[in-house]
Amino acid sequence: MAQRSLAEIAVTPDKEHATTPVYSVLYDGQCEICQACVAWLKTLDREKKTSALPISAEILPTVDSRLRMDDCLRQLHVVNPEHEILVGWDAVAALARLFPPTWVIGKLGRCFPFRNVGRLLYGFVATNRYSLSKCRGGACRVARPEAVRRQADLGAFWSCYTLGFFIRLPLVLWAGIQAAVQRIGVFTRTYHKRLDLLDGKLTILFLNGMLTNTVPLLFGEQFTTVLYDGVAVDPGSPKMRRSLARHIRQLKPTITKIVATHAHEEHVGNLNWLSELTGAPVHVSEMTGQFLTPFKKLPWVRATIIGQPPNLKQPHRLLGETVETNSGYLRVIAAPGHCDDHVVLYDAKEKLLLAGDAFMGSYFATPNPDVDSRKWLVSLERLMELEIEILVEGHGHIHTLRADIPDFPGVVIRQDPKLAISQKLDYLQWLREQIEAGFQEQLPMRVIEASCFPWGMRNSWESCATDECIRLLSLGHFSRTELVRSFVRTNDDQLPTVYEVRMSGGDQSPRQ
Ligand SMILES: [Zn+2]
Repeated sequence: MAQRSLAEIAVTPDKEHATTPVYSVLYDGQCEICQACVAWLKTLDREKKTSALPISAEILPTVDSRLRMDDCLRQLHVVNPEHEILVGWDAVAALARLFPPTWVIGKLGRCFPFRNVGRLLYGFVATNRYSLSKCRGGACRVARPEAVRRQADLGAFWSCYTLGFFIRLPLVLWAGIQAAVQRIGVFTRTYHKRLDLLDGKLTILFLNGMLTNTVPLLFGEQFTTVLYDGVAVDPGSPKMRRSLARHIRQLKPTITKIVATHAHEEHVGNLNWLSELTGAPVHVSEMTGQFLTPFKKLPWVRATIIGQPPNLKQPHRLLGETVETNSGYLRVIAAPGHCDDHVVLYDAKEKLLLAGDAFMGSYFATPNPDVDSRKWLVSLERLMELEIEILVEGHGHIHTLRADIPDFPGVVIRQDPKLAISQKLDYLQWLREQIEAGFQEQLPMRVIEASCFPWGMRNSWESCATDECIRLLSLGHFSRTELVRSFVRTNDDQLPTVYEVRMSGGDQSPRQ
């Protein structure tokens, strides 16, 4: 079994090279221990005093001509702003002195007897790090790569991956806590809130409900209904109905049409209700209409938290190529991927895209079982052809640089919408390559999943606590495993379910 791609996949060196005079830290980009230390370094280094560079024949001469590849692979080398080369424990102590939480270690580490103890300990780890992590890369890469590849087995991969995880565990937990605090902040700021934008043309209604509130609190996805120029888009689920009714009582909007972007429960549960209340007709795509009549029975967790939508009442209207608004029209564009029936609505005049769930952040990693990432890639490529200045997501995020959209922390993200979409495209393309390589090597599903979340990639460990929490609470419905499956889904899905993969210990090849 060829292991090379796994070793390479697990390592994604940082490409950002600092240009200001800083401490250059040369690390072995193939070693889990080195990568984990770099993750710590980046967390401590808020003022960007250091620049971590993976050792390579190209990089070394650009840092300092005195650096030698063999020496650098053997122990840590740091080049300080005065162009001194610090090695081993002395390099560790110099770095420690840069940051308040570790300053004492660095200070003491220069004096007897701590310096001697430090050098001794460092020497032990440096000599044994490959056997500690059973790493198949690192020095091996330059020494005997073929021999290492031949001897490597999955046990070595897992010992590396697990060690990398445990060294980062405090960071993983800390990132999880920080994300939770941020989610609570956004939740309280948006609770029963309404955002009136573009002189009232665009309104975001934040929807709440007793049990539904657990979703924004735990996962960070807000529930919203978008009112755009007389069109109500995705009016929420039955458990958010009181919240929606309250907004409508206060705002008294003129709604001429009700549209659903797709048939997920949190988007379609109030279609009939809002139509009866306002007299406005419901417009859905043909496929969404089919999904809603009758609406499938939801898994109990989703039914309890979000609410089982009723079947769509007849008659309803089918979405054509456009939807008329009060002052113009919206183009209806099919955007399958998040689910097969997804459509997005685009106002060319305003350069505004109502994306629903066709865009959920650039690094969304816990999709549900409806996602087909290969279709999603094609849809995103199509969206890249549009001119977009304002991108409104279905779960409470707006990406825009436009000054007429005021700041709203946690909701308005100051980022070029096209850049956000292209980042998502890059990420999905990268994932597709990893997953296809994994399948070609006939690796077990769990290994492929792990290789899609290498610890060297900051996103992998930063979102790890939240992602695993989502997996646990949704009983596997929304998970990183589903992300892998979303690339190999076929229309007549022959894959084992997440539960089957879990119960079998993940050792079966998903392509049977
Ligand atoms: Zn959805």
